[in-house]
Amino acid sequence: MPAVIVNEDRCQCSQVCVTACPYDAIGLISNDRGRAVAHIYENCIDCLLCISACPQQAIMLVSTYGLSAELEVYNGVWVVVADTSVKAQQLVTQATKLAQTLHAPTGVILLGADSQCEVLMTAGATTVVPLAAVASDRQAYLADDLLQFVDERQPEALLFADQALVRDLACQLAFRLQIDVLTSIRDVASELSERRLWFQRSVLDQRVHTAIAIDTRPLLAVV
Ligand code: SF4
Ligand code: SF4
Repeated sequence: MPAVIVNEDRCQCSQVCVTACPYDAIGLISNDRGRAVAHIYENCIDCLLCISACPQQAIMLVSTYGLSAELEVYNGVWVVVADTSVKAQQLVTQATKLAQTLHAPTGVILLGADSQCEVLMTAGATTVVPLAAVASDRQAYLADDLLQFVDERQPEALLFADQALVRDLACQLAFRLQIDVLTSIRDVASELSERRLWFQRSVLDQRVHTAIAIDTRPLLAVV
């Protein structure tokens, strides 16, 4: 099922989207009220180009791999760390400052058990989730577990510590969600304030960036 839908009340039948779609996945149909409107067919590959093409903002993202397009359902800034080192604590403190601007809590996903996890609470975290505890094979299933975590908790931003295992996990998650990874907390703050997200998609064998102004999360960053 395509991740985009047409808001028929907004559609003015300009057919701009029909021309913009590289996959011939949009056509015109007559709706229940006898009005000609754009329609997305099943061969849509979710490249999202039609969203920015439509002058009426009539095409909307309804889901991407289980993610909702409604910003309101996303909550919290989560930090992913591999240990409870001073560097990890500092990242939690930075994330907490960012979370405070959103009036949101700060959570930590800790890859692996660490008896010192209370230091992360002292640094500002309200929750610490040991992700490896639910992974039967840590290396192979961490990305799956994190994807499931994103689906269930719907974080607004995920900040990955610049540590080898964590960086790798960020790349895997970004690939699975088909979204870019930011590289600084300043970028995350800016994106959160702009409430805009860039999607990267393969379109006819080329990587294409699409900016959409609707609010889709999470933001991912390696910092
Ligand atoms: S570009 Fe927008 S307004 Fe024009 S036909 Fe497509 S959905 Fe409708
Ligand atoms: S998302 Fe891409 S493939 Fe799908 S209808 Fe829009 S332009 Fe076509």
